[in-house]
Amino acid sequence: MYETPEQYLEIVKREVRKLEDICHCRIFDGENNFCPRCGEYGTWDIETKGFVDEYGNSIYYSTVYYEWRCRICDIRRCN
Ligand SMILES: [Zn+2]
Repeated sequence: MYETPEQYLEIVKREVRKLEDICHCRIFDGENNFCPRCGEYGTWDIETKGFVDEYGNSIYYSTVYYEWRCRICDIRRCN
């Protein structure tokens, strides 16, 4: 079952706050950072689940896996 975009935003805002507490940093959509899961360089994609093409390696929160991941994580999973 998938959540609505509004529900997704609520979840992501909560997860952003959690992650900010853990890493003692601020997370902003469109800023560069390292994927919390695999450590690859990427771009925070807070609102669209990694579907912004110009972000390159989007780092997004997955409500399927309940974790932060990036496109490289997704690609590696298929290999
Ligand atoms: Zn990753």
